[in-house]
Amino acid sequence: RFSKADRLQDERCELPVFKQRDKLLTAIRDHKILIVEGETGSGKTTQIPQYLHEVGYTKYGKIACTQPRRVAAMSVAARVAQEMRVKLGHEIGYSIRFEDCTSETTVIKYMTDGMLLREFMMDPELSSYSVVMIDEAHERTLHTDILFGLIKDLARARNNLKVIISSATMDAEKFARYFDNAPIFGIPGRRFPVDVFYTKSPEADYIEAAVITVLQIHVTQPAGDILVFLTGQEEIESTHDILLSRTRGLGTKIPELIILPIYSNLPSEMQAKIFEPTPEGARKVVLATNIAETSVTIDGIIYVIDCGLCKETCYNPRTGMESLVIVPISKASARQRAGRAGRVAPGKCFRIYTLWSYDNELEENPVPEIQRCNLGNVVLILKSLGIEDLVHFDFLDPPASETLIRALEELYALGALNDEGQLTKLGRRMAEFPVDPKLSKCIMYSEKYSCTNEVATIAAMLSVGNSVFFRPKDKIMHADNARMSFSCRDGDHLTLFNVYSQWEEANFSSIWCRDHFIQYRSMNKARDIKEQLVDLCERVEIIVNKEPCKDIKMVIKSFCSGYFFNCARLHKSGIYKTVKNAHTVFIHPSSVMFKEMPKWVMYHELVLTSKEFMRHASIMSSQWLTELAPHYFSSQDLDDDSIKKMPKP
Ligand code: ADP
Ligand code: MG
Repeated sequence: RFSKADRLQDERCELPVFKQRDKLLTAIRDHKILIVEGETGSGKTTQIPQYLHEVGYTKYGKIACTQPRRVAAMSVAARVAQEMRVKLGHEIGYSIRFEDCTSETTVIKYMTDGMLLREFMMDPELSSYSVVMIDEAHERTLHTDILFGLIKDLARARNNLKVIISSATMDAEKFARYFDNAPIFGIPGRRFPVDVFYTKSPEADYIEAAVITVLQIHVTQPAGDILVFLTGQEEIESTHDILLSRTRGLGTKIPELIILPIYSNLPSEMQAKIFEPTPEGARKVVLATNIAETSVTIDGIIYVIDCGLCKETCYNPRTGMESLVIVPISKASARQRAGRAGRVAPGKCFRIYTLWSYDNELEENPVPEIQRCNLGNVVLILKSLGIEDLVHFDFLDPPASETLIRALEELYALGALNDEGQLTKLGRRMAEFPVDPKLSKCIMYSEKYSCTNEVATIAAMLSVGNSVFFRPKDKIMHADNARMSFSCRDGDHLTLFNVYSQWEEANFSSIWCRDHFIQYRSMNKARDIKEQLVDLCERVEIIVNKEPCKDIKMVIKSFCSGYFFNCARLHKSGIYKTVKNAHTVFIHPSSVMFKEMPKWVMYHELVLTSKEFMRHASIMSSQWLTELAPHYFSSQDLDDDSIKKMPKP
């Protein structure tokens, strides 16, 4: 009989990276910067930091290993702690926004790329680290791209720092060129052939097609788990429901189908489930976002179903609006997804799109995030690191100058930069807040009206998004009535505040949540985030009011101080136009404002489904705009008739 830890040690020795251990350590010893390239699942993330620890790199500093995704940072740290038989948070820890699971004894720290960027702000030398591993570099997140520029510079300045850039089998040569011709260390992977199938004609409903494919595999194909790539949490949840109801109809002769979701917001206890071995005789189907493309490896997958799409932030510098949109993946991503089927045995990949579409409609590579998002936060961070000349910053792929200029304009409108482009006092305080500059502005502003507590609470509720209210299909009426009882006439912001404060009065009870059709888990997350925001406020010496704010309208005004970009006015029956640029938008049906249709509204975000909807909207006063954003709106924007006067496009 073997104990669990022995089994884990055996598994470690079977990973492809293990055979390269000594060669790899020699290469790291001999070079300041090393590019490591290897198939997903070869052991880069979990093993390389351990090897470095084993040979003594942690004697004079910590090892940082960055991950683009929160889930990956947490799950990998948990795995490594298990392999080393230590408690998570002791020698092995992780740090993600709003959650620090490390201690004095931590020597290997898995962290999101965003958190390392924050550490750069506190200590530009990263003096507590002996090794920095920028992992999953091929993902090219905004934060990773910025880290490249900073770390390249730091490696020149610090002789005792080792830098490892690791990626799946993509882009290695490009990284090598960028990092002054650093050598590439390839980890030979094992990969079994994967047969790829396409649909004969385009599918109108890819969810339905995915469900049917899962069931067909389950009923007709030999043992082996299934991985389905979908685009987001809501889609995964509804696919989960459909699959559950369909499998009930299959009868008892068919083996059990275990359905497991994985996406970034999934609570950590649920994340662990996808790694548990599938019981004998059953089959596992994992419903995943592109998180399972390279960041997490699930063993035992033989079948992959790929919908060919993913959700991406997309920023339009002309309108200044950022939204999440569903877009086709790239060919490189499609190949990565297919590859997930060939790790343990020959596999099959079912693409829910046509071969023609693969050949003609998919781009070769994904567009790096830096070229498709709002750069506000990054500009603040770089400016506070003393980097003034952003146009000449050494980007691997520079952002569009239009986007950069737009970010500078946004920060200027918020009052974070002066007219020479330098950080203002306000901007410096805002940079210390690891949140969107619009939100940090709200928090700074709220101090003036002693409503920081309310603003932080609402911000926390907004950040758990649309998962607060719970609407079971058999109790829709009860749920909607319960929801009505929280409604505030001023809009969704204060409605969310009502939910939170009543829950607080009920001593954060789970029973209260159940009785009011509120998701307990989301509320706990909001509570956590609120506490973090309050801590951060204390760090930058913002007083958080203990007494309720006297004039509740000032809460909305505070939000408006950061979100004046997001305001709209009623144009005609149900149709709104944004104040800037007169873009057509609608109130989201989930809003308490949906029926009332006030003249002026401020919204938290736009979501694109059949139309562009404003999610989380509140009544505002048009007078605030000239006061809060004197440089941003022209008199024509604010003139009531301006929309009518505008020429037809
Ligand atoms: P790479 O970074 O090269 O993609 P990893 O180091 O992430 O590879 O994975 C190596 C092995 O560790 C894989 O077989 C994977 O299944 C396993 N593994 C990683 N994280 C976990 C976890 N949280 N639980 C169980 N196994 C894990
Ligand atoms: Mg990895």
